[in-house]
Amino acid sequence: MPSADFEVVILGAGMSGLCMAVQLQRAGIHDFLVVEKSAGIGGTWWDNRYPGAQVDVPAPAYSFSFAPNPHWTHRFADAPEILRYQQDIAARHGLQAHLRLGQAVTEAHFDAAAGLWRLGLADGQQISARFFVCSLGPLSRPRWPDIPGLDSFQGRRLHSARWPADADLAGRRIGVIGTGSTAAQLVPALAPAAARLSVFQRTPNWVLPRLDRRYGALDRWLARRPWYAALVRRAWVQVLELGRRGFDEGTLARRGLQAAVVGHLRRQVKDPILRERLTPRYPVGCKRIIYSNDYYPALSLPQSELVTSAIRAVTPRGVLTEDGREHELDALVCATGFDTVRPLAGLRVSGLDGRTLDKAWSNSPSAYFGLTVPGFPNCFLMLGPNTGTGHTSTLLYIEPQVQHAIACMQRVRQEGRRWITVRADAFAAQDAAVQQRLAGSIWTQCSSWYRNDDGRIFAIWPGFTREYVKAVSRPDPAAYELA
Ligand code: NAP
Repeated sequence: MPSADFEVVILGAGMSGLCMAVQLQRAGIHDFLVVEKSAGIGGTWWDNRYPGAQVDVPAPAYSFSFAPNPHWTHRFADAPEILRYQQDIAARHGLQAHLRLGQAVTEAHFDAAAGLWRLGLADGQQISARFFVCSLGPLSRPRWPDIPGLDSFQGRRLHSARWPADADLAGRRIGVIGTGSTAAQLVPALAPAAARLSVFQRTPNWVLPRLDRRYGALDRWLARRPWYAALVRRAWVQVLELGRRGFDEGTLARRGLQAAVVGHLRRQVKDPILRERLTPRYPVGCKRIIYSNDYYPALSLPQSELVTSAIRAVTPRGVLTEDGREHELDALVCATGFDTVRPLAGLRVSGLDGRTLDKAWSNSPSAYFGLTVPGFPNCFLMLGPNTGTGHTSTLLYIEPQVQHAIACMQRVRQEGRRWITVRADAFAAQDAAVQQRLAGSIWTQCSSWYRNDDGRIFAIWPGFTREYVKAVSRPDPAAYELA
């Protein structure tokens, strides 16, 4: 069999890329390369450096089972702490030697005759690999709003996911477009020092309290005991899993969830008119729930204004709304999310017969348990279609995905085969089962980044995390065929 430059090439050095690298080593596969377009590791945590960026699940559950972190300073870790956690994992496992940073992969095609992936890098180099792991992350392509005149704005225009290190907005008139999880963290961070802050809301979101607390010396001492770290992690995983019930109509958990969001709004926003404007018209959980104690209070500051008149255009001086008002601004912050329908970011991936993943996904992305696509042998997606979660830590999905992919790789290696690919019928049956389960769910009752223009829900896993873990950790041999 022709030899490859690397046994495995991993695209992306975010959480899933790092997890894959560590687990490959544990499986005895040391011949791998991690290619990352950014100048550092971290993935979404490298990209999202806007003020106030934090994770919204408790840090013990936002840690890998094999890498507990006794250094968390808060229950909800902030972006710099998470980045340090990732750097620490890379250092402890000697991953630096396997990293190629600041390098983008522009093209990947499967050479069926050789049974190899051939990858084109941005600097013109070509490398080959037996297995290709695509861990780009579902939230990696910033989406700018399609508003007329956006480019005409003469002040400073920023996207939350590409926050420049020199952006000092203190004393400025700031506009924020968007009211999702990102805006809910940015707004409280920007509001106190702003001369004026206008938050342009197209759709309000449901907000839950953030049950944060500082981890003291005792917590950190205890967290160094492996049994304690494992216990706390397991406890949080169970608590979050219970929260999944809150997404099912008619359950006690759902009634509790509804009461919690309504109560939080009532407690934090005393002005009935503002409260009315902040009340969503869709069921809680349909869009990603926000966890914040300071978003509503920030909107109630004297310098803040919630603008609910729709945006007509961006002008050189600011934002023109449908009520005819021009909001003059020095800086316009777009917290408008990510292009989740086209996650490949212009990367051309072609499989058997030259068919591209873009073509296979022309309607919307789909994959067998979010992992493998028929006709794309030896290729594994991390956090692929329908593996997103609205109730728990995404790391709980990464670990079984990595196990699944490595088990497939080992099967090819041990059986002396050239490649492994998911069977079209297994993929179709699994995809249909997921879509059937999503039909009529609460996620169908609003528009969100979980859905495409046709309404198909392509991003979220409909069930409990334990169901996913059970189905994915050990690949069903009958679902795959080998060449
Ligand atoms: P998002 O949830 O997609 O929110 C984008 C916001 O921009 C929405 O409010 C949207 O309004 C608005 N918007 C988009 N285009 C617009 C336009 N043309 N005019 C007016 N408004 C427009 O994006 P995000 O807040 O960046 O969050 C994305 C995901 O990242 C989250 O759901 C979460 O999974 C993750 N995240 C997590 C954390 C964390 O704490 N761990 C923090 C940030 C982000 P509509 O709702 O009307 O579309």
